[in-house]
Amino acid sequence: MTTTVAVLGSTGSIGTQALDVVRGEPDRYRVAALGAWSSVELLADQAREFRPEVVALGDPARAGELRALVPSATEVVAGQDALTSVAGHADVVLNAVVGFAGLPITLATLEAGHRLALANKESLIAGGPVVQRARAGGGGEIVPVDSEHCALHQCLRAGGDHEVARLVLTASGGPFRGRSGADLAEVTVDDALAHPTWSMGPKITVDSSTLMNKGLEVIEAHELFAVAYDRIEVVVHPQSVVHSMVEFSDGATLAQLSLPDMRLPIAYALAWPERSGIPFGAIDWARLARLDFEAPDADAFPCLGLAYEAGRAGGSAPAWLNAANEVAVDAFLAGRIPWSLIAEVLKSALAEHDGTPLDDVEAVIEVDRRARELTTKIVERSVTA
Ligand code: NAD
Ligand code: MG
Repeated sequence: MTTTVAVLGSTGSIGTQALDVVRGEPDRYRVAALGAWSSVELLADQAREFRPEVVALGDPARAGELRALVPSATEVVAGQDALTSVAGHADVVLNAVVGFAGLPITLATLEAGHRLALANKESLIAGGPVVQRARAGGGGEIVPVDSEHCALHQCLRAGGDHEVARLVLTASGGPFRGRSGADLAEVTVDDALAHPTWSMGPKITVDSSTLMNKGLEVIEAHELFAVAYDRIEVVVHPQSVVHSMVEFSDGATLAQLSLPDMRLPIAYALAWPERSGIPFGAIDWARLARLDFEAPDADAFPCLGLAYEAGRAGGSAPAWLNAANEVAVDAFLAGRIPWSLIAEVLKSALAEHDGTPLDDVEAVIEVDRRARELTTKIVERSVTA
């Protein structure tokens, strides 16, 4: 049986690695749809290689260019809703878009009752209650692509939900591990983008440098596995070999170990409930020598605590924090604010969060819009200060 796959965000770090997985098991998968924002040349190359039925482009201005480059049998759809419109075209939809823009894809996939291979954590974090309703009502399922949650998903197979004592998420610590607050005042965009163990898109790489990525992942774990925040912990593990752990009621801890290669969790989500046949590198135990673990530095990296705070507050707080973070990271990447101000901006933004019930997707979009507007003002104020 061939599994049809829609790869949305196909030109990014996760998207291109997903196509590598498909290349590795060509009899198992067929690419039914591809989608990206505006990288027309790469998207057209991918369309010529994988021959999907449909290719979606977010940026409508470049649709003509794309049409001229793809095979004549390939349909091109373009515009704001284009990627979402193809989400029903496959057995498995990989949501590898970055940021809040991924929310409609997550919802459409779950509502259509398909399997969602979820890399786009922002949609689950911001849309929490609305995504859960679509998940329960539409008959779709989420299989996480984030390496930590993929590890938890694997470990959780060893026991029942009521037997879970603790989830322990590992964090590489990012490029600034071991540095103090004062030491971090002068770091540059290039410093923040130089991740020690993973090569990823710019937004998540900056999130890894502030530990906001781990904070978002704590909320993601809570949403995916319905475990209370008091029972979700973070430990820094610089080698990125232990991808996360589950402690059970009898004190037994199960961990998932593998070399740091995102293709493994991507392949896991595509092949679920089976396992991928591609060997993504074996650990050489004798050479591995050691695995280190240490507590995260909450003073130097306050974003982790802010995420716990927003997660525990629940309701619209995670959506508020997520939107504020996207604005702050964009401002940092554009050179408008220093790295050390990202957490300050988020603290100020969270202080003004007023709590709105998230009854429907419109409410989520409105919270996201208001948080962006406020955070943009906070950034302006700090730029002129
Ligand atoms: P990236 O920046 O490399 O790629 C993003 C992709 O999304 C591109 O194909 C781009 O064209 C598309 N895109 C961007 N904005 C869009 C929009 N508004 N509408 C439609 N498409 C849009 O990002 P990435 O590193 O591949 O990350 C993708 C997602 O996966 C993020 O949510 C990230 O947190 C998550 N993730 C990534 C990694 C990793 O190793 N890169 C690991 C874990 C989780
Ligand atoms: Mg991760």
